[in-house]
Amino acid sequence: MIFVFASNNAHKLAEVRPILAPIQVLSLEDIGCCIDVQETGTTLEENSMIKAQTIAQWLTAHPTHSTIDGIIADDTGLEIDALHGQPGVFTARWAGEGHRDGDNRRKALRELEGQTQRGAQFRTVITLITPHITHQLSGCVRGQIAVQEYGEGGFGYDPIFIPDGYDRTFAELSSEIKNTISHRARALQALQLFIQQSQI
Ligand code: IMP
Repeated sequence: MIFVFASNNAHKLAEVRPILAPIQVLSLEDIGCCIDVQETGTTLEENSMIKAQTIAQWLTAHPTHSTIDGIIADDTGLEIDALHGQPGVFTARWAGEGHRDGDNRRKALRELEGQTQRGAQFRTVITLITPHITHQLSGCVRGQIAVQEYGEGGFGYDPIFIPDGYDRTFAELSSEIKNTISHRARALQALQLFIQQSQI
């Protein structure tokens, strides 16, 4: 089975591929698609759908890729309890358009300075589109925002997120552990179950 992952984010692809194996996961680059999908939705669900539908439409216009069984898209948000679920849908551009992951992390640490309530969750919404089915699944991991950055691994907000049950950030934990307990891993585990049950 071959899926296109509606993203060129190398970090996400590196997580998605081993979790979904033996399903083969192609990137947008692999299929020669240069679209930079704009996240214009107001929820993770909408943005995940926009990504998947945009690539589905592109594939319809480029029917050479006849071996592709479906498209999957991932939209992820960090929801911080003390900030009433912010940044949520603005997670990627929290520090402003064009800012980098480090700026976003520093903003999170600033916003929570002196705050003892540091609970948060990562939530991923996966959209699957096949010729017969459009379906969304989500995965969530609860944790705490650290008081400073720890670790070199992972990406995005990983250096400041300590998942429940651990005393290290995602950036300090191995990729095997993150790929078992993370928001994305849980959403993809639900996707695998859905694929088996619906016999795609
Ligand atoms: P998007 O899903 O590509 O829109 O990503 C939203 C934001 O969340 C970006 O700033 C990513 O760097 C960040 N992000 C997405 N997934 C993860 C993750 O697994 N760990 C840490 N940060 C993430």
